[in-house]
Amino acid sequence: MKGRKLLMIPGPIEFEPDVLHAMSIPTTSHVAPDFIAVFANSLELMRTVWKSPKGQPFIVSGTGTLAMDMAAANLIETDDDVLVISSGYFGKRFKDILERYGANTTLLEAPLGEVVSPEAIEKELKTRAYKALTFTHVDTSTGLLVDPKPIAHLAKKYNVLSILDGVCSVAGEEINQDEWELDVVLTASQKAIGVPPGLALLMASQSAIQVWENRKTPVSNYYADWTNWLPIMTAYEARRPSYFGTPAVNLIVALETSLKIIVQEGMDTRIKRHQNLAKAFRAGIAALNLEILPKTNAIAANTLSAVYYPKGIDGGALSAKMVANNVIIAGGLLPEIKADYFRIGHMGSVSANDLIAVLSTLERALIALEHSVVPGKSLQAFQNELLKMN
Ligand code: PMP
Repeated sequence: MKGRKLLMIPGPIEFEPDVLHAMSIPTTSHVAPDFIAVFANSLELMRTVWKSPKGQPFIVSGTGTLAMDMAAANLIETDDDVLVISSGYFGKRFKDILERYGANTTLLEAPLGEVVSPEAIEKELKTRAYKALTFTHVDTSTGLLVDPKPIAHLAKKYNVLSILDGVCSVAGEEINQDEWELDVVLTASQKAIGVPPGLALLMASQSAIQVWENRKTPVSNYYADWTNWLPIMTAYEARRPSYFGTPAVNLIVALETSLKIIVQEGMDTRIKRHQNLAKAFRAGIAALNLEILPKTNAIAANTLSAVYYPKGIDGGALSAKMVANNVIIAGGLLPEIKADYFRIGHMGSVSANDLIAVLSTLERALIALEHSVVPGKSLQAFQNELLKMN
């Protein structure tokens, strides 16, 4: 990895060398016994990562958007009422997807930098018999973190399916699918799961599977239909060969490797590492007098930070300076304020050393653009915060 640029965008992320190595092992048959075992292990490991011993995992070639599409295609029928709770760009994407399947959607969103309160959600749930609600654990466009627990609780109380977009959270933020009674938690491989892009990963509760089984109409998306995929997942887990669409063999070998690394670290330790590093990173950012999009640290994600450019700084120039110093960051994504902020991913195998490199590069880039910064200030704040935690 020497001489490599540090990829600090909110996905794809820096991958473990063992994961990249696993990708390069000669491709085997998707029905070879050793690959069947890898697939089966990956399904089982997903249950540990999602904390969902009772859940039904799905591993399908595609991206996070396919996982969203799969949830909507299988659980929604024409004229179902669905509540979409949005904290940014990806909430609205869910609305678009749901509408393709004929859902009547209601969008709930808070002012920029805030999240919708459980009270507002409960008030809305009282207005009609919603079939499902969707929400985004971490919206990658805003860096906002939503607490899934009270929302899942409300969904149960009102007999509504809860569907969580965990693309920017699973394996990086606290998730306890079974205990919180979340019906669907979905993600993609390229974020905190730590595998190159190309896998849609989804965990469905038994009640979600029942809702799908009791559909009145067939699923109107051929590729996403669980009728095609559930028997495949069941067969792999039973160590039997099966086929619907050729699985992404190399990516799944890499997935097993990464899930093992994650489980070996331990879910609680891993989440704590993300929380500690994110907190220290925010302290570094604040020391530079830079502001983050979330109004408070309590609703700031631990997997990425969305930071406003200081006044007078050209975003393109800042990114270019950072790339020139081997740190790649992401620009804004929310259309209304796209040019006003940047995003830094800190998930997966991210370390304190990576974030020190980011802060130091950021300081030098700001100084080069004639922004007044005391060199080392953010590094000191970062260190102090970490030292407090030890
Ligand atoms: N939801 C969230 C929260 C995301 O961050 C992303 C990707 N940035 C997606 C959905 C879509 O995932 P993908 O790009 O893999 O389709």
